Formats: sequence, structure tokens, C-alpha cells
Amino acid sequence: MSNRAFLDQIDSKISKGNPSEYSKVVFILHDQLNLEVWPDWVKVEKPLLIFVESKEKGESLPYHKKKLIYLLSSMRHFALECHEEGYPVFYHSTKQHYDGALKDILDSNHELSLTFMTPSEWDTRERLRSLKDIFEQRVTEIPNTFFLANADEYKDKIGPGYRMEYFYRDMRKMTGYLMNANNPEGGEWNYDEENRKKLPKNIKPPEWAGTEADDITKEVIDLIEAGFSSHFGELNDFDYAVTRRQALYRLNDFIDRGLDQFGPYEDAMATDEFVLFHSNLSMYLNNGLLLPKEVCDKAQEAYDTGKARLNSVEGFIRQIIGWREFIRIYYEAMMPDVREANHFGFEKNLPEMYWSGETEMRCMKECLKPVIKDGYSHHIPRLMVLSNFSNLTETDPRKLNEWFWLAYTDAYEWVVLPNVLGMSTFADGGVLASKPYAAGGNYINKMSNYCKSCSFKISKKTGEEACPFNYLYWNFIDEQRETFMENGRANFMVNMFDKKSDDEKEAIKSSSRKFIEALERRK
Ligand SMILES: Cc1cc2nc3c(=O)[nH]c(=O)nc-3n(C[C@H](O)[C@H](O)[C@H](O)COP(=O)(O)OP(=O)(O)OC[C@H]3O[C@@H](n4cnc5c(N)ncnc54)[C@H](O)[C@@H]3O)c2cc1C
Ligand code: SF4
Repeated sequence: MSNRAFLDQIDSKISKGNPSEYSKVVFILHDQLNLEVWPDWVKVEKPLLIFVESKEKGESLPYHKKKLIYLLSSMRHFALECHEEGYPVFYHSTKQHYDGALKDILDSNHELSLTFMTPSEWDTRERLRSLKDIFEQRVTEIPNTFFLANADEYKDKIGPGYRMEYFYRDMRKMTGYLMNANNPEGGEWNYDEENRKKLPKNIKPPEWAGTEADDITKEVIDLIEAGFSSHFGELNDFDYAVTRRQALYRLNDFIDRGLDQFGPYEDAMATDEFVLFHSNLSMYLNNGLLLPKEVCDKAQEAYDTGKARLNSVEGFIRQIIGWREFIRIYYEAMMPDVREANHFGFEKNLPEMYWSGETEMRCMKECLKPVIKDGYSHHIPRLMVLSNFSNLTETDPRKLNEWFWLAYTDAYEWVVLPNVLGMSTFADGGVLASKPYAAGGNYINKMSNYCKSCSFKISKKTGEEACPFNYLYWNFIDEQRETFMENGRANFMVNMFDKKSDDEKEAIKSSSRKFIEALERRK
């Protein structure tokens, strides 16, 4: 089915607002799909809403096919819902980028004034702001209200030494989640000590139900198959929620069946178990189908009613009011220079396996599988396996960042960049994280069941049969010793390396050189 046929179907369902009949339009971006947080005047006046499907934006990176399907289908569903609520809607599909499309509309409708909400991504923000330069008072920017914290209040604090934990305590006090007056529920701010368990054999994570694709989604699938077939990832079995109602169902399901065990197994990884007790809600939070407040309200309610334990609810709420908000403020404070951050000076291309999923390393294979299939994995595969391996093999962190951005359904620059260049690769030199997240095979073996079925031997430290993480880890510590020595929490690792025998050091270095040189890289 062609794109035109789909748009004809949309047109027949909604009265396509004609911009020339209106004096005021509001532009709604693909990640601002929730009118609850738009200003009251929008809800009262019901101005013309403009949605733009931009081919140029969709092609700006070879985004995962399912990510494109999700974004287009949820925007199309949302436009229809707005129409059903009485808004006139202009749904525009174009080859141009957002600014080009909106410029043409403003050029040909001289009486029209346009309002947009500050985009969370830098480039789109710059593009829309360029319209203000051209059309001046006819274009109004309003603040982004999809987040809980006011970025301007905290932006200046971002820098080495200002850690998420301080910000998180402020947010707990501000929101009142898990608080007794000014004190944290249970006496502690953070229960991570209780949240580092491996998944025992007798605990089976829930089977999470998918959402059946309706006609609108099926048409988008055809569209992506026809126009974006060379993009990353698989397209079959698309089963994401694409409406707010469906996303709310997933939220409730997670609260009922996942949240209580979220804490203990938050860091666990297991073969063919990709979501475990995680929520898999980030994609819905990041385009507005769900709002951070309602998600945390539900978690608080689950604690209040005894449905979920404290360490799980605290851990979950911290991810949202702590990490998610902190990451966004970091982005506001650090852009655009941080895009070039590369503390270790690595310049190698991404290993080919990040695209093909083909490798003898069981952990890498298992962690890449759900990314290639669904554009998802939980935090620990992203941090402790995929990013860790990239750093240990001296890969350019900017290439890794681009891969995460295109490969994950929940990735937008404001959230992926701080996580990759700040948290997981230490590319910013320690602004976001207090020390590099580097780990050897023992960590992966402790938190997963991967090593049992791997071609490499976790018990071997060097040589061809040995687990590559084992020697690559020590090689990294040695090569980057200056960074580790400067860091009070990590300098003991350098001392441990230095205490190894000369033979062992030599074996670590030569195994690592061989492995890094032989690694097939993306051209
Ligand atoms: C290298 C790397 C890249 C990442 N890229 C992204 C990304 O592109 N988009 C994204 O939303 N998250 C990203 N994260 C953060 C985190 O891994 C995901 O938010 C989380 O895994 C999503 O799965 P979930 O919904 O099951 O999360 P859960 O474990 O259920 O957590 C609940 C929610 O907390 C929020 N959250 C948790 N940690 C973070 C964090 N560090 N930053 C921002 N939000 C957080 C998410 O909204 C998530 O849905 C990245 C982390 C790393 C280490
Ligand atoms: S042995 Fe090493 S490479 Fe294999 S799964 Fe374990 S950590 Fe990964």
C-alpha cells in the first residue's frame, strides 16, 4: 500500500484542516503526543493542529524499522484522536524536514501564526527557531512541559562532582514520592544494595503481552517495508502499543505483574529473557503516550497498597524522577559541544556484530538479539555489555552513540547522548559518571547465565580460548591508567594490574592486541 493511499484514508476520517482557513496553528512534534501537558488555551481554543511526517527526518539516520513504525503509527493514531476530540487537524506528509514544510505553509498563508513547543532534541529546536528569525512575531515558542524538573533551575550545577543522587533527593522532596515529611520512606534514600540479584532458576519473569497491529499500523508497516528496507533491525511481529489507551494498559500490567520484583532483579540478565521485570515503558514516556508523573503516581500507589516492596518502588521511581530528569538537564547544560566528547581518544569504527548480531561471544549475541529484533534491551545490557565492550575494544564513542540512537526505539538525542557519552563510555571525562563503567567477564558471569553456553571460557584469563572480557578489561585499565589513577574510587584497579607478574601482563597485552586488531569493524 502506498503512502498516498494511507493518507487518503486518514483524510476521509478526519476533516483535513486547511491552514488558509485559520489564523492560529499549533505544531505537534512526533514526541509531544499528549495534550494534557499543553497549555490550557490550546484545550480551550482548539486551534488547528499540524502534524508533519518528514521523510528527511526519517532518513537522517538508518533508524530501526520498528522505531519508525512506532513513531509514525502513534502519531497517526494521535492525530485521529485529536480530531475525535474536536480539533481541526492538518496531517502533512512531506519529503522535507519540519522547518521546510512549516516555512512553506507560513509563506503561503500570510495571516497564519504558528506556535511550537520547544523540541527536546537540539537540531529540531534549531530548525524551528530559524522560523522565528524569518517570520518573527508570527512564530511563538512555548516551553517544553513534558518533564517534571525545570532544567533552567539545575543546568548550572551540571559538572564534575554534581551527581544524580543529590538531584534525586531534591526531586523526592519536590514531588513527595516515598517521603514522610522531609524524610525518605524507610529511612534510606536509595535501596540499591538490595537490587543486585541474579535471576534464580525458579523465578520466571512474566510473559508480557503484545498489542495486535490494527489497519493503521499495518499500513505503516507496508510503508516502512517499501521505503526504508535498508534500515537497521527486523520489522516482523510488530506488537508495540501505539495509542495512549494501549500504553496505559501496559503501565497497569507492569505495576500489577512486574514492579514488585523490579528491584531485586533490576541488574539481572538471562538467555532469551529480555525484559525480565523491567517496565519497557521508555518508548511511551519519550513520545508522550505516558507522562512521568502518572507512571510514578501508579508506582507510589502500588507501594501504599502493599502491592510492591519498597526497594522496587524506590528503584523504579529513581529511574524516572532521578535518572531520566537528570539526563535531560545534562543535555541542556552540555550541548552542543558534548557531541564531540571523546575522553579516551578512541577512533575505531563500531564492530560489525552491532549490525549483524553475529558473534561467538554469547553475552554479546544475547544482548544484541532484542535490539535487532525489537529495538530494546534493558539498562544493564546497554551499559555493562554493549557499551563496555565498545570501550574495551577502543571504539569511537560517537559511533557507538549514533548506533544506540538509531537502533533503540526509545532513543532521542536528549536521552541517548548523555547515557552513552556521559554514563557508559566516560567520553565526557567524568562530568556525569564518577568513574568509567568497565567490567570483566566475572561481572557478566555473576549477573547472567550466558557464560555457561559460550564458546569462550570464563575461567581462562588469556589466550584464544579465554573470555575476551577478561583480558580486555585489564588491558583497558593499563592503557587508561591516568584516568583510573586520578579517580579515588578506581585507582586500586591500576595497583592490582601492576601487581600481576610480567608474564601475565604480557599475555593480557598480546591477547588484547590480537583481539582488537582482528575484530571486524563496520566500514
Ligand atoms: C548506553 C545507554 C543508552 C541508553 N539509551 C537510552 C535511550 O536512548 N532512551 C532511553 O529512554 N533510555 C536510555 N537509556 C537508559 C535506560 O537504559 C532505558 O531508559 C531503559 O533501559 C528502558 O527500559 P525500561 O523502560 O524497561 O526501563 P526500566 O528499567 O523499567 O526503568 C523505568 C524508566 O526509567 C527511565 N530511565 C531509567 N534509566 C534511565 C536513564 N539512564 N536515562 C533516562 N531514563 C532512564 C526510563 O524512562 C525507563 O522507562 C540508556 C542507557 C544506557 C546505559
Ligand atoms: S565467557 Fe566471556 S564472552 Fe562468553 S558469555 Fe561469558 S563474559 Fe561473555
